[in-house]
Amino acid sequence: MHHRASVDSQDVIVVGGGVGGLTLALELHRLGIACRVFEAVPKVSQVGVGITVLPHATRILAELGVLDALVARGLSARESVFYNRFGQFVFREPTGEYAGLKWPQLSIHRADLYDVLLEAARERLGDDRVVFGARFLRADQDSGAAYAHFEQVAPSPGGGTSTSSFTQRGSVVIGCDGIHSTLRRQLHSNEGPPIYQGLNMWRGVTRWSPFLTGASMLRVGWYSSGKLTIYPCRDDVDGQGTQLMNWIAAVETSRHVDRDWGRQGRLEDFIATFEDWTFDFLDVPGVLRAADSILEYPMVDQEPISRWTFGRLTLLGDAAHPMVPRGSNGAGQAIVDCRSLASALSQSLDFVEALKVYEADRLPVTTKIVYKNRVDPPDAILREVCTRTNDQRFDRLEDVISDAELQGLSEGYKHLTGYSRRALA
Ligand SMILES: Cc1cc2nc3c(=O)[nH]c(=O)nc-3n(C[C@H](O)[C@H](O)[C@H](O)COP(=O)(O)OP(=O)(O)OC[C@H]3O[C@@H](n4cnc5c(N)ncnc54)[C@H](O)[C@@H]3O)c2cc1C
Repeated sequence: MHHRASVDSQDVIVVGGGVGGLTLALELHRLGIACRVFEAVPKVSQVGVGITVLPHATRILAELGVLDALVARGLSARESVFYNRFGQFVFREPTGEYAGLKWPQLSIHRADLYDVLLEAARERLGDDRVVFGARFLRADQDSGAAYAHFEQVAPSPGGGTSTSSFTQRGSVVIGCDGIHSTLRRQLHSNEGPPIYQGLNMWRGVTRWSPFLTGASMLRVGWYSSGKLTIYPCRDDVDGQGTQLMNWIAAVETSRHVDRDWGRQGRLEDFIATFEDWTFDFLDVPGVLRAADSILEYPMVDQEPISRWTFGRLTLLGDAAHPMVPRGSNGAGQAIVDCRSLASALSQSLDFVEALKVYEADRLPVTTKIVYKNRVDPPDAILREVCTRTNDQRFDRLEDVISDAELQGLSEGYKHLTGYSRRALA
C-alpha cells in the first residue's frame, strides 16, 4: 500500500455513487456547485432487481433531464391494484400520469436506473469526477474544510490489484453510502444492529406475458399467509411483447438472513406458500418457478437517529434513514433528500449552516416515514381485508370494507411521503 498526497479542493465530497450519490451529483451540477463522487465498487455490476420511483421523485428526475431516458428503459405504471390470496379483487387506483399527475410512477430495473444516472453524471461532470474503486474509510474536519480518507483499489499492470490510500479535501462530506454506511457508523458508533420486522423477502425477475393492464403494480395477500408484489420493470424484452416482471414474495417468519442486496435466494424456501395462487389473470407459482434470478433480503430497518449533520459532515438516502421496503420509497426519499440538500447548499455561502438547514428539512419527515412503513404502508389495505375476513374468501367486498376506507388508507401514505395530488401541488 502507498499513500497519495491530498488533492486541495473545495468540492463537495459525495461518498457512494448509488442512486442517491449520483442524483446528488446531478443536482449540484445543475446548481453550479462542484463535487466529486467516490464509489467503493471497482466497476459497475448488474446487481439488483426492479425498483419503483414515485412521482415526488420522478418530478426531480424530470427536472434533471433524465426522466425520458428512464421511462424508455422502464415503464410508466398505470395502476396500483390489490387482491386477496384467493384472487378476489379488493382495490384499484390509477397511478402517476394516469392519476392526472404531471409525473409518472416509474417501474424500472435498478441496473437501468443506475446506468442512466451514471451516464448523465459522467457526461455532465466529467469522467474524472466519478471515481470507482475508492472505498471511504473515515472523515474529519477543521474550521475551514472537511477531509475524507479513502482506500483505492486498482488493477496493477502485471495482473492482480494494488491498493493505495488518499485523502480528499473538500468543503463538506456527504455520506450517500447506503445501508452499510461507514460514515453513519463513524457518527453514531453506538448504534445497534438492524431491526428485523418479522418478514422475510425473496425478490426476483421473470420474463412473462403482460397481465391486467400490462403496466399494473399488483399486490396480493398478506404476510401471515404470504404476500406478493409484482409489476413489469422492462417492456417487450424479446420483440414479442414479453415483459420482465419484478416480484417480491414475502412471508412472516422468524427465519432470516443478514441484509445484503446481492444475496442469492432459493425457490424451495418459499414456493410452498404460493403454490395454489393460480388466478385467471396470473399464474403466480409459474412466475416464481421461471425466475431468471432470486435474491433474499430480510425486512429490516433501523431506529431513526436524532442527528445526521455534524459540522461539515452529513448523511443522505439509506445511510440517513434506512426504511423497510414496503412503500416503494427508498429510492424516492433519497432523491428528495438530494433536492433539499443541493438547494440548501446553493442558497447559503455558509455550507455548515446549509447542512443544518437540510437536516431540519428532511430528518423529521423521513423519521415519520420510517415509522409509517412499519405499521401502515400502502398495503395496509390488504391487512385490513385479511383481518376482517379472518383470512378467508369474502362474498361481497362492501360488507368487508367501504370504498371510503380504502381510499383513506391509500391517501394517508401518499400524503405523508409526498406524492399525493395535494402534496405535489
Ligand atoms: C447493489 C444494490 C442493489 C440494490 N437492489 C435493489 C433492489 O433490487 N430493489 C430496491 O428497492 N432497492 C435496491 N437497492 C437499494 C436502493 O438502491 C436504495 O434503497 C435507494 O436507491 C437509496 O439509494 P442510496 O443512494 O441511499 O443507496 P444505494 O443505492 O444503496 O447506494 C449506496 C452506494 O454507496 C456505495 N458504498 C457503500 N459503502 C461505501 C464506502 N465505504 N465507500 C464508498 N462507497 C460506498 C455502494 O457501493 C453503493 O453504490 C440496491 C442497492 C444496491 C447497492
